[in-house]
Amino acid sequence: MADERKRILTGVRPTGSLHLGHYVGALENWIRLQQEYECYFLIADFQVSDHADEMDLVRSSVFEVALDWLAVGLDPDGSHFVIESLVPEHAELTTWLSWWIPLGRLQRNPTLKAEMADLESKSVPVAFFNYPVMQTANILMPKAHLVPVGDDQLPHIEMTREVARRFNRLFETEVFPIPEPLVGRVPRLVGVDGNAKMSKSMDNAIYLKDDAETVTRKVMGMYTDPTRLRATDPGHVEGNPVFMYHDAFNPDTAEVDDLKERYVAGKVGDVEVKQKLARVLNAFLDPIRERRAHFEAHPELVRTALAEGTARSRTVAQATMADVRAAMGVNYLE
Ligand code: ATP
Ligand code: MG
Repeated sequence: MADERKRILTGVRPTGSLHLGHYVGALENWIRLQQEYECYFLIADFQVSDHADEMDLVRSSVFEVALDWLAVGLDPDGSHFVIESLVPEHAELTTWLSWWIPLGRLQRNPTLKAEMADLESKSVPVAFFNYPVMQTANILMPKAHLVPVGDDQLPHIEMTREVARRFNRLFETEVFPIPEPLVGRVPRLVGVDGNAKMSKSMDNAIYLKDDAETVTRKVMGMYTDPTRLRATDPGHVEGNPVFMYHDAFNPDTAEVDDLKERYVAGKVGDVEVKQKLARVLNAFLDPIRERRAHFEAHPELVRTALAEGTARSRTVAQATMADVRAAMGVNYLE
């Protein structure tokens, strides 16, 4: 049956399990919008060329990501979990769309530039440089209207909007809606090491699947105000990752206000602030851990979600490609 809802496309790279940054940056919006929109949740395995020497990790992460999605409450009955490379039309559309993306546009993309710099001494594969182009194909394939992501993805969505406009204008069609970005409550959650972004690849994450002891250990070791040597020194709340996490996850705002006040006045130690944070995070993660355990015990449910979502996505992709070929006039033999 045709689905009349507007569509969401968004995704994750299969490079590890999901963390708190994914939750507040993206997943929270996905969960909230999954009834209102027809959602395509993509596991972008074409886009992990920086992990080419770790294909075991990629393979296991496909299932880990799907498990995390089920654990946070994404519903594969109303939404589609999609494995990118099993919808090879993504590669086809990437090739066509790359006709309309100027090289300089990619070279100036700030997220891509920063990520390439992080690859440090490793040489950058062409596929890595091209991943934002592939993302435009991911978004346009189901003709998505909305793309809920963390703020590092905004340059890619802006590029997608430009390419969609260009295509529509050039071929005088309305094949592609112009997609809107939607950034989460915390656009970019810092890492436990104080680095600007919690990231799977940087070993600075608290994972949704971490057990209580691991979470407590990571929180107690968190980077905090480096200028503060003793609990009686006045501390800084601004830019302090421990307080950023309290702001993001502690529902007891009175407790957070009280801790901040005492911290600035030098009347509370880092240990107490961290212990309270560990308690808050573990309470937040407990129901997620419970649901994860359920799906871990039923791997067939995870597999079915991926198989059905990917099959549905393939049907939609074939319809889009027929529209693209017709618009371009490359349906030569029809
Ligand atoms: P990698 O380091 O392998 O790139 P990642 O942690 O950046 O992994 P992605 O799969 O690249 O995760 O990102 C998936 C989605 O989660 C994107 O929408 C991204 O913007 C969002 N996201 C990732 N990390 C954060 C974060 N720390 N804060 C907010 N949003 C985030
Ligand atoms: Mg990333």
